[in-house]
Amino acid sequence: MATTNLDNHIPTTTREAPHSRGASRLASLSGEGALDVLSRARQLEAQGRRVAHLEIGEPQFAPAPHIVEAAQRALAEGDARYGPPAGLPALRGAIVDALARRGVSASAESLLVTPGAKTAVFYAILATVNPGDEVLLPDPGFPIYASMTRFVGATPVGYTLDVDDIASKITPRTRVICLNAPNNPTGGTFTQRDVDRLGDLVLQHDLLVVSDEIYGRIVFDDPRGFTPSIASLPGLLDRTILVDGFSKAYAMTGYRLGYALLPRWLIERATVLAVNGHTCTPPFVQRAGVAALTGPQDAVHAMVAELKRRRDLIVAKLRGVPGVDCPTPAGAFYAFPDVSGALRASGLTIRQLADRLLTERGVALLPGTGFGAGGATGLRISFAGVADDVTTGIDAVADFFTALAA
Ligand code: PLP
Repeated sequence: MATTNLDNHIPTTTREAPHSRGASRLASLSGEGALDVLSRARQLEAQGRRVAHLEIGEPQFAPAPHIVEAAQRALAEGDARYGPPAGLPALRGAIVDALARRGVSASAESLLVTPGAKTAVFYAILATVNPGDEVLLPDPGFPIYASMTRFVGATPVGYTLDVDDIASKITPRTRVICLNAPNNPTGGTFTQRDVDRLGDLVLQHDLLVVSDEIYGRIVFDDPRGFTPSIASLPGLLDRTILVDGFSKAYAMTGYRLGYALLPRWLIERATVLAVNGHTCTPPFVQRAGVAALTGPQDAVHAMVAELKRRRDLIVAKLRGVPGVDCPTPAGAFYAFPDVSGALRASGLTIRQLADRLLTERGVALLPGTGFGAGGATGLRISFAGVADDVTTGIDAVADFFTALAA
């Protein structure tokens, strides 16, 4: 089993660090709460406590052997020098084919390979958002979208995963809509009809889209096996930056491999941005990416089937637990139960609840506050970890809330 090694993490907020000598824009950045909780969980483990890790969004599944072998072979062959800034032609070709299977007709010239999807999101926002703009983003949502938006001097405007809510929040200052379906932290997604309506809104209001589809293949109830992409709609390729990566579907978090599919008019400048930022993505890592996309997909399917089994287990275990309402996640590997009932009844805050779950029950999970104001009454449960942690952890969570209500 692979393990997570994020112990030397940076703090979630920069509040506690003295920034008097750093650039003022640093103060607008925030990190990810998962790393803080992981660090506290590790401290408890160092004291001999057993902790069920439901905090980190990292699949504890091993990458398929052919992926590892491809990276090793590439390294042995010396494929560790600078490569083309936009990515190896072989990988860009494989990505074109993979996107075609999801109904997106990309051209290799419009692809920028990056060290992780996060870097692609970073570049996408740097390349499209001006100071004073508004960026629509999911709330609760991946905290990096809001952090990056503030970093470039723009204003994050949160929406719930609902097209009417998004429509109601568009103003003349709106420039970009960030989409993330399936969503981190709720596992919620958009239907094809939602995506069609979103496409109409984008065209009507002359907007751009950053569509983070990193969980696009981790869906549980869609027979197609992927989430519909806004980039597959007529006229939308020219307005969409589609972001994806290998961390989740292929369990390749530490390889740091992702990509952006950009509008033609943006690719050249975005590639210059990438040259300024990272020069190129390591070629031996990209060769592993080629193996991932072109090799057997059994490991992906087996992982998604196992995640679905865990999703069903969690939803069943939390059904009927007092003060807890757990919607069924459609994809990704997170459940996001709403615990407003328990908050009201106990008088505790969501952070106190999460804290007590960790210290009293040995379950590490995340208070939803780290994902925006819209997450204030939720707890994020990642079920991508070790199977035994999921089973014991969810039993302990159910037991905790039952005892709290009593
Ligand atoms: N986008 C979302 C929505 C995520 O949840 C994550 C990881 O948690 C990432 C991007 C980061 O992906 P990568 O490891 O490819 O940088």
